[in-house]
Amino acid sequence: MKIGFDRYGAGVFLLIAALLNGCATGGGAQGLQVDFGRGQQRNAPLAVVARQYTGTCVGGQRESNNCAHFLSDAFIRAGYTELLKRREVVERCRCGANRVVRAQDMLKWFQEKAERFQAGTPKKGTGMWAAYQEKPNKRHVLIYDADTGKYYGTDNCVNWPVQWYYQW
Ligand SMILES: [Zn+2]
Repeated sequence: MKIGFDRYGAGVFLLIAALLNGCATGGGAQGLQVDFGRGQQRNAPLAVVARQYTGTCVGGQRESNNCAHFLSDAFIRAGYTELLKRREVVERCRCGANRVVRAQDMLKWFQEKAERFQAGTPKKGTGMWAAYQEKPNKRHVLIYDADTGKYYGTDNCVNWPVQWYYQW
């Protein structure tokens, strides 16, 4: 994460603690939130992205794994066109719509956007989160609505040991 290491030293310490916790404990880490307090440019709220989620790509194709493919489709249609040009993206869909297809590429982007980070499933009433879940050799991304428990994505892998949630 390239977020104000100097200005937010204490926050980064907490964040590292949260990451270690998220990796080591098999989930269930709760309540630890870090507020980066960046407040830079305004983006479409995650609730708007969720409404754009259709479980498809405008390019019309499916691939072997579609979690990032269909989620990035929703982000882009909600106005996050920066994803179309992002140089750090390693692989894109073959539909012709240029969507991001690797969960890890979405994770890196979430980390750059994030104003708040939460390890473990967020408490009810904390709103919408961009989520990254991982178990050995498997990675997944989705949008999670902590108010309703609904998710927008191909799945919600609640039992996987890594549960990282980002908000902006
Ligand atoms: Zn596509």
